[in-house]
Amino acid sequence: MILFDLKCAKGHVFEAWFKDGDTFTVQSKTGEIVCPLCGNSDITKAPMAPQLARRRVDQGRSSNLAPDPEAEQIAAAKQLIEALQHKVEENCDYVGEKFAEEARKIHYGEVEKRGIYGEATDMEAGDLEDEGIEFHRLPRLPQSDA
Ligand SMILES: [Zn+2]
Repeated sequence: MILFDLKCAKGHVFEAWFKDGDTFTVQSKTGEIVCPLCGNSDITKAPMAPQLARRRVDQGRSSNLAPDPEAEQIAAAKQLIEALQHKVEENCDYVGEKFAEEARKIHYGEVEKRGIYGEATDMEAGDLEDEGIEFHRLPRLPQSDA
């Protein structure tokens, strides 16, 4: 696994893990990597923050346990997703299962333009895409407290 500092076209910097350098290259070309802050898929590599890399090495050395890259990866991903969810919850109205309906109304100017979030089925999401309505899929955290 390899950790890259990435940057979207709007200048947000975030970290992401990849199997190897080639995986990043392929996924960035196919638009599979999206900025967790704004959903932009124009992603480039940002220069690696040197303190960050050094701190990881120190942690590994001072601990008797081998560092667990998978746990670190999950924690990092979880942080990103939580930050994204907070941002959405602060700035957008929750519309639940009416997401597709509301997104459509906003798109066609039937209601005032505003940020919304909620649930949509794959079919609804496909319909919205077909109609050229802009929306982003939020990554979901596994429900640990269920
Ligand atoms: Zn961004």
